[in-house]
Amino acid sequence: MSDNQTRTELHELGEFRLIDKITEPIIIKNASTAQGVGDDAAVLNTDGKQLVVTTDLLLEGIHFDLTYHPLKHLGYKAVVVNLSDVYAMNAHPKQITVSIGVSKRFSLEDIEELYSGIYLACERFGVDLVGGDTSSSLTGAVISITAIGEAEAHKICYRSGAKENDLICVTGDLGSAYMGLQLLEREKKVLEGKSGMKPQFAGYDYILERFLKPEPRKPLIDLLEKEGIVPTSMIDISDGLSSELLHICKNSEVGCRVYIDKIPIDQITHKMANEMNVDPIVAALNGGEDFELLFTVPIEKHDVVAGMDGVSIVGHVVPQSNGPMLVAPQGEDIPITAQGWNAMTKTEEE
Ligand code: ADP
Ligand code: MG
Repeated sequence: MSDNQTRTELHELGEFRLIDKITEPIIIKNASTAQGVGDDAAVLNTDGKQLVVTTDLLLEGIHFDLTYHPLKHLGYKAVVVNLSDVYAMNAHPKQITVSIGVSKRFSLEDIEELYSGIYLACERFGVDLVGGDTSSSLTGAVISITAIGEAEAHKICYRSGAKENDLICVTGDLGSAYMGLQLLEREKKVLEGKSGMKPQFAGYDYILERFLKPEPRKPLIDLLEKEGIVPTSMIDISDGLSSELLHICKNSEVGCRVYIDKIPIDQITHKMANEMNVDPIVAALNGGEDFELLFTVPIEKHDVVAGMDGVSIVGHVVPQSNGPMLVAPQGEDIPITAQGWNAMTKTEEE
């Protein structure tokens, strides 16, 4: 470890400031690097279309728990989290590489089960698995996937393009994956040490599936293409709506007004949240892993996006001086603060 006199604890810094810190020295050397660190994916120039590249790391005990995450679903999800970042650039995924670290606890059959989920996702989204790396691990399992996608340069959507008066839209519904995770954790605690008992999951399939086997929002990308709309900005919702709104506002140098009563929340999410004394709005704002898309479009596109299946208009973009704001049902303004799932926070570490 560093023998430097000063020592900064990672939980004081948080994940985003850590990334800012370690990527500060980067000076782009190649004209082919169109966008480096700082968006859902990097963007590379080629003679034809632009390429997007993104990578994600999943660690046992941090991102998944093998006591309730079936290996096939885990393989599928590991691919989906990457494809979601490619779609968030308004690009089409084409290749992935998959690297795994596994301990003696895993058999060949276990790994084949994991790969059956990986291949299912490749099949569904038209992606080729083109490489990777395999290593043994002393403790938990590790899965790292890199995805490569392509798009015409003028169609790529960054976090930085939102303009004043744009409409703010989200796909699907929010907070459901978080409530699914809470349910899995609750049942795990209840069943700990009790053999022969079955978990109580009846009626909650939807939120469980949202956490265990999320779907990337390819249909939105196809629909935008069909309607001839290129969003002014886009990001995938992996850390919760609040955190992603702040990324768009910061990178686009704008503020926003998002109406709390317009945030799409499924009935089952409401039901589970009530049962667990969680505010469903908090689950939508600060929960994670929904893998929906948040995007902005010029106000002239209102009628087209309003008519799109599975898309909700939740607010609009305002000048930066107004700040990022939520609007309560009674009309009161509430400043947005980031509380996304932060792997570096003290509570999670302990
Ligand atoms: P996402 O949630 O979309 O996966 P992250 O918040 O993980 O995005 O990353 C934000 C940006 O920082 C991305 O451009 C990513 O490539 C970059 N990044 C994250 N971790 C590192 C790292 N250790 N070194 C260099 N770049 C990183
Ligand atoms: Mg992302």
